[in-house]
Amino acid sequence: MISLKRNKKGELQKAPGLRTRKSSIYTPNQEKDFVISRGKFSDFLTCPRCFYIDRVAGIISPTPPGWTLNALTDTLLKDEFDECRAKQKSHRILIENNLSHIVPFQHDDIDKWRNSLHYGLEARFKDTNIILKGGVDDVWINTKTDELVVADYKSQQSNFEVTQETYFSSPFKDGYKKQLDFYAYLLMEMDFNVSKDSYLYICNAINQNKGFNGEMIFDEILIHYEIDTSYIDQEIQNMINVLNSDKPPQSNESCENCAYANKRSELNL
Ligand code: SF4
Repeated sequence: MISLKRNKKGELQKAPGLRTRKSSIYTPNQEKDFVISRGKFSDFLTCPRCFYIDRVAGIISPTPPGWTLNALTDTLLKDEFDECRAKQKSHRILIENNLSHIVPFQHDDIDKWRNSLHYGLEARFKDTNIILKGGVDDVWINTKTDELVVADYKSQQSNFEVTQETYFSSPFKDGYKKQLDFYAYLLMEMDFNVSKDSYLYICNAINQNKGFNGEMIFDEILIHYEIDTSYIDQEIQNMINVLNSDKPPQSNESCENCAYANKRSELNL
């Protein structure tokens, strides 16, 4: 991917390659609090080396494109769920799935919890200086058990029918499971009673083969996932060990980015 650095006006800028914000860079064995977002934890699980290069060496990877269509479905769903939250009634997709006892959770900080850029769910990891954060899409409550239910919205396009039976068969969905696990873990650390049941609200754009005509239709499917936080403590400790190391871990040999960078360096290009 070719990514050119531009300012807010769209003007080209010199790409610095290195982070300048001190709070984004971790010095091994530092005592000062350091924030790790859900996205960075996910990076660590994917490749500890890239995580180290980013957080400790402070080297910036190319900026990914914005997913504005996906962001719009999130915003529209958020509006729908906020309307239900205000009236403390269930949402149509929950009712269709015989889950009318689940309603959006009302809490003074719900907007902060959903603001991944500046706030999010937040918990200190044990007695360390690591503060874990994650901006959740929504939190619902099971009114029968008083347990909180983690929810995440996903927009996609697939010509295959989205079903509970097949949805998680793709390895690309493992990250979604870990995302739900992480939010549930944070809520538990914040002393909430959290349900094992969590949900992905899938918006799947349908190819109607009728032309665009300014319209895109989505199927909506609720996918259930049973939360598993059993591995998180250990993985966070592994992540902290990497942060405190004086050299980066091994690379992931399946990574095309590293293969590309290594070949360029071999050929002096
Ligand atoms: S293998 Fe290399 S480029 Fe790929 S994620 Fe890891 S460090 Fe980054």
